[in-house]
Amino acid sequence: MDDLVPSLKSLLPQLRGRLLANEPLAPLTWFRVGGPAQALLMPEDESDLAYALKSLPREIPVTVIGLGSNLIVRDGGVEGVVIRLGRGFSETKVEPGQRVRAGAAVPDLRVAKAAQEAGIAGLAFYRGIPGAVGGALRMNGGAYGTETKDVLIAARGVDRAGNVRTYQNAEMHFTYRHCGVGDDVIFTEALFQGREGDPGAIAAEMDEITSKRESTQPVKSRTGGSTFKNPEGRKAWQLIDAAGCRGFTVGDAQVSELHANFLINRGNASAADIENLGEEVRRRVKETSGVTLDWEIKRIGIRTQTSGAGPT
Ligand SMILES: Cc1cc2nc3c(=O)[nH]c(=O)nc-3n(C[C@H](O)[C@H](O)[C@H](O)COP(=O)(O)OP(=O)(O)OC[C@H]3O[C@@H](n4cnc5c(N)ncnc54)[C@H](O)[C@@H]3O)c2cc1C
Repeated sequence: MDDLVPSLKSLLPQLRGRLLANEPLAPLTWFRVGGPAQALLMPEDESDLAYALKSLPREIPVTVIGLGSNLIVRDGGVEGVVIRLGRGFSETKVEPGQRVRAGAAVPDLRVAKAAQEAGIAGLAFYRGIPGAVGGALRMNGGAYGTETKDVLIAARGVDRAGNVRTYQNAEMHFTYRHCGVGDDVIFTEALFQGREGDPGAIAAEMDEITSKRESTQPVKSRTGGSTFKNPEGRKAWQLIDAAGCRGFTVGDAQVSELHANFLINRGNASAADIENLGEEVRRRVKETSGVTLDWEIKRIGIRTQTSGAGPT
């Protein structure tokens, strides 16, 4: 892709953050696949982000990524500007009334730990979600019966025009693994509400979450978490199992033997292998149960067919 950085630098003379041309994105995702960002922008802080969004011409596409734990970056890479929040968005603060304020780049695990150390219950579920706060807001991340919508007071975000605003919980329009705030909004911070708890008991709850995860999910593999949303009243993994897809492969991409709703990269899969595997699973599930599975994993970038391998 053309090097956008010189023209971006002249469009954004006051930018304080970093801008990199054709930067590989695979290392920034759990699947470890996919092409580069035409330009990767790491803003210094919220006002730097707002300045960049306001100054970038509308025809330049902007995509935000978090820790890449629910993401397939396609092999052709991502056109335009990819934004990744870093240091300036990584503060965690415990506030009076069992509240935790966290920047969008704070890993969910750190939210859980900060709450535990302060004796704040209700946020331990974040222990098992390997994304950051921005991704949890966008995906309404949740586990064990609690979702982000149950613990969020408000979030801050910046829209494509560079306007910064606060969204109260009701304005987030959360549904299952979805937030209804415009796709252009980049979240910068969240304020969570917990309740009084005992640090020892919360630590034990978190340990239990860790061991449960390790025995039921391929948490040490190159994966993207749950691939498909659970259809109303059904479990995606059961439908995938019933369609005979557990262990099924395309190239080096495989339906996990441990958890049928997880796809894994066994080492040399391309993004196309993983996406084609997911589409083949959807086709087979539709054929056997009549249910259409919806992708939970977000796919970004230019699709290419870089794998020679077909379904096996
Ligand atoms: C082993 C494993 C287990 C998992 N278990 C769970 C689970 O139990 N529950 C669960 O809900 N999820 C789970 N996931 C999925 C994933 O961790 C969550 O969806 C997480 O919230 C994604 O956060 P992220 O920072 O990795 O976002 P990414 O994967 O980088 O991005 C996901 C989406 O969020 C958007 N996004 C990221 N940051 C921002 C921001 N600052 N502002 C606006 N949009 C943003 C991206 O554009 C993209 O659309 C699991 C994943 C793995 C690999």
